[in-house]
Amino acid sequence: MARVAIVTGGTRGIGEAISVALNGAGYRVAANYCGNDDRARAFTEKTGIAAYKWDVADFDACVAGVAQVAAELGPVAVIVNNAGITRDATMKKMSRAGWDEVVDTNLGGCFNMCKAAWDGMLERGFGRIVNSGSINGQAGQYGQVNYAAAKSGIHGFTKALSQEGAPKGITVNAIAPGYIDTDMVAAVPPNVLEKIVARIPVGRLGRAEEIARGVLFLVADEAGFVTGSTVSINGGQHMY
Ligand code: NDP
Repeated sequence: MARVAIVTGGTRGIGEAISVALNGAGYRVAANYCGNDDRARAFTEKTGIAAYKWDVADFDACVAGVAQVAAELGPVAVIVNNAGITRDATMKKMSRAGWDEVVDTNLGGCFNMCKAAWDGMLERGFGRIVNSGSINGQAGQYGQVNYAAAKSGIHGFTKALSQEGAPKGITVNAIAPGYIDTDMVAAVPPNVLEKIVARIPVGRLGRAEEIARGVLFLVADEAGFVTGSTVSINGGQHMY
């Protein structure tokens, strides 16, 4: 039977490409999202992939969401924790709310989803978890103490949980995208983006499909010996 995969933030940007790639590879995909109903509707119309709305920062909503997907599509074998937000500001201007929102979504959401799916994966002796880190979690970035801390936390989380999953058939890995051409990067001022692209050895922004390719590798049944690792896909911008 086809394995069931949940992709958080799976209806647009990098998540959309991951949902489409998994669907194309034969997985039964549930694409989660949080607020943008129009984009989710357009995504489902275009791809035929079911969209499920819940906030990954809300623990109870994640438990209910995983249970709903399991009831409708089957037991959840793959979780791709891709949902993420930015609330950029320098320390001088960053509010406590801007810190909490980013940490609760980008890092707390990863805990919530893993916790909701973990017991089932243990019972079935199989699981694949891929967490979205970031080049800015590896290298830091001006104006992003909240985002860099949350993404850096993803890398520690991944290494710790992979040790618990390894003897149980569950792999836990991270993917660390560089600058990818999505709505998130479109929000960066053009003069700043120009300087960023000038520092990417490949000479361009990445494409969402190039991140999806890495995720497909990590979730495969054949990737059972790959765990606790970070796959950096950044055009050579940062070597970690
Ligand atoms: P986008 O802003 O294009 O899309 C974000 C997705 O996450 C949307 O589907 C959004 O849902 C969803 N989302 C946001 N908050 C929540 C929430 N609380 N609960 C559920 N879903 C939520 O982001 P990208 O595609 O650019 O980024 C995807 C991931 O990759 C993020 O984790 C990001 O930090 C990371 N990344 C991105 C890079 C880039 O250059 N783009 C670089 C490095 C890392 P909705 O549509 O409802 O708003």
